[in-house]
Amino acid sequence: MIELKGLHKSYITGNNKLHVLKGLDLTIEQGELVSVMGSSGSGKSTLLNVLGILDSYDQGHYKLNNTLMSDLSETKAAQYRNNMLGFVFQSFNLISFKNAMENVALPLYYQGVSRKKRNSIALEYLDRMGLKDWAEHMPNELSGGQKQRVAIARAMISKPKVILADEPTGALDSTTSIEVMDLFREINKEGITMIIVTHEKDISEKTNRIIHLKDGIIETDLISKN
Ligand code: ADP
Ligand code: MG
Repeated sequence: MIELKGLHKSYITGNNKLHVLKGLDLTIEQGELVSVMGSSGSGKSTLLNVLGILDSYDQGHYKLNNTLMSDLSETKAAQYRNNMLGFVFQSFNLISFKNAMENVALPLYYQGVSRKKRNSIALEYLDRMGLKDWAEHMPNELSGGQKQRVAIARAMISKPKVILADEPTGALDSTTSIEVMDLFREINKEGITMIIVTHEKDISEKTNRIIHLKDGIIETDLISKN
């Protein structure tokens, strides 16, 4: 599903070059539930952005579904993102002036699905997240855990093969964090590959495989015992 070989990435700002990913080799099969750990600045978000085709890389290769993800046109990249990938962020990234249902429905709007149809599908997804009664509520009326479940429903609605989550529990209390992780585990059971960046050990322990990044290299890559 995902294959990285000798992947390097640097950021260039002015005259400075910051070498962030220093030759990553990584294979993730369809249906895996993986966490990526590492201290701040170790390159976790950079890796996730490359995997999400939100950012380019300099050397090596990244294959998604056996297709090389380099030199893609913006249209092609968007197609892969929309058809294959779902994103969940620490800060939820909901649109503040749209209600929960409209936020969930948004990916279908970009696919040209009619309002009636996309809202009804969005309601099904909200229902699965236990949020049907909150469909008409605006993001600022929802708790952190509810906002993240809306964001997860939005990531799910385009039926992605892979969900990429960057510190999805970073803004949540520990009880809510565990609830969100249990939800991710359920989603993963449907065969969706999950890659979750976290720096919390008890979050990573809810996944089946733990990858530690250190200074841009994979320090350890271990099957988790659970
Ligand atoms: P992590 O998510 O593990 O905290 P990041 O991947 O965000 O780490 O960042 C790795 C390094 O790259 C950090 O030193 C960070 O400051 C730097 N960095 C991240 N994004 C950019 C960018 N867009 N331009 C320049 N430097 C960046
Ligand atoms: Mg980060």
